[in-house]
Amino acid sequence: LSQALFNQYDDKKLVAADKAHYMHCFHIFDDHRENGALNIAAGNGAYIYDTHGRRYLDAVGGMWCTNIGLGREEMADAIAEQVRLLAYSNPFCDMANDKAIELSAKLAELAPGDLNHVFLTTGGSTAVDTAYRLVQFYQGCRGKPEKKQVISRKNAYHGSTFLTMSLGGKAADRSPEFDYLQDGIHHLSCPNPYRAPQGMDEAAFLDYLVKEFEDKILEIGADKVAAFFAEPISASGGVIIPPKGYHKRMWEVCQKYDLLYISDEVVTSFGRLGAFFASKEVFDVQPDIITTAKGLTSGYLPLGACIFSERIWDVIAEPGKGRCFAHGFTYSGHPVSAVCALKNIEILQRENLLEHAKQVGGYLEQQLATLKDLPLVGDVRCKKLMACVEFVKDKQSKELFPAEINIGEKIHSKAQERGLLVRPIIHLNVMSPPLTITYQQVDEIVETLREVIVQTAAELKQSGDFGG
Ligand code: PLP
Repeated sequence: LSQALFNQYDDKKLVAADKAHYMHCFHIFDDHRENGALNIAAGNGAYIYDTHGRRYLDAVGGMWCTNIGLGREEMADAIAEQVRLLAYSNPFCDMANDKAIELSAKLAELAPGDLNHVFLTTGGSTAVDTAYRLVQFYQGCRGKPEKKQVISRKNAYHGSTFLTMSLGGKAADRSPEFDYLQDGIHHLSCPNPYRAPQGMDEAAFLDYLVKEFEDKILEIGADKVAAFFAEPISASGGVIIPPKGYHKRMWEVCQKYDLLYISDEVVTSFGRLGAFFASKEVFDVQPDIITTAKGLTSGYLPLGACIFSERIWDVIAEPGKGRCFAHGFTYSGHPVSAVCALKNIEILQRENLLEHAKQVGGYLEQQLATLKDLPLVGDVRCKKLMACVEFVKDKQSKELFPAEINIGEKIHSKAQERGLLVRPIIHLNVMSPPLTITYQQVDEIVETLREVIVQTAAELKQSGDFGG
């Protein structure tokens, strides 16, 4: 990219306007007032460029989403062509468009088993919101209006609408100024083996989690519980890879008590774990509903989908009942987003990027594991192209640093100075690079992290905040 591109930015003006007018996602007021933001102007492959033209290797992949990498000419062309042909089409009033239809058929083909029905949304939160409403509708249609409560997990993230924030269970996202939907939403333990109760090995922890689920259903009453919501691997919760066999066992409990199993694959689909959908291929579970977004368009345009089973369809669409699923968004089935998703799928298949993600993801797993012996590193969790490093003050007791140390932010800012982005979440740094990431770029990520961790440990030692 030529420097001329970056010379056009009046950075002072941009920073002032940002501070004056632009409220960001998860806006931290004091920090933004003081430090502003990293303003990004361009992107190509796994690299993004700030308004000064500084280059960063984006190991976060946007926000878990830039799966095919940025700056693809053929994507730009496909989007432009569709804008010229049909920029918008009304998804209400008995109208459809060919691209939304084609994409729905494609998703039905790619999704496991009999997940043959697709509701297109505007992103991940609206996909999960749709799944929740679909669950309610389904139970109502089958004459079980009392069976509407749902079970989720602590540390889960399902989106940022009122409903999906209530469904999520991240303590750090909950602040007393907000209200959350309390009735009818229950949270189980986070299935994080690293934080299992003391003395429990992984097998015992798994039994504990399954029992907790079953006990919770019995406590509420199976006739009142509609569904279980789970990410195959909790992403924003810190790349929580549950004990082996967890999803299958939880799914079996769902079968036993007639609960729907909703797999929130907003992050884990479209190649991040080496499969179009991870539920069946990676975790051997056939969900009743899969929600997806992010990698569906690799972040080029907003889009999400709620993909559901024949079993649900047969109940809700029973002929002669005259029912209407009163749910929809102005931008449901948006033809330009649909074209973008179709082109994205074409690129993923043509370039064999799922297989590459498996291979290079395996290499990332191996290489990141070498950080485990460093000071500060409590746990390294990585499955294919989802990764997280958890920092602790004491490796033995797994005690965390006090919040004001802001360890994730320390690691992040030092990495950023070296041209690498790793997203901080309090005491964690998470990564989800584009599927196009190379072996050399993996080395760059791991070596930069190693350098930064060693330096941070030395500084914390010197300030007396870390014993070593
Ligand atoms: N579900 C999961 C598992 C996610 O990680 C996210 C976003 O990070 C969402 C849902 C919400 O998606 P969106 O931000 O597109 O609304």
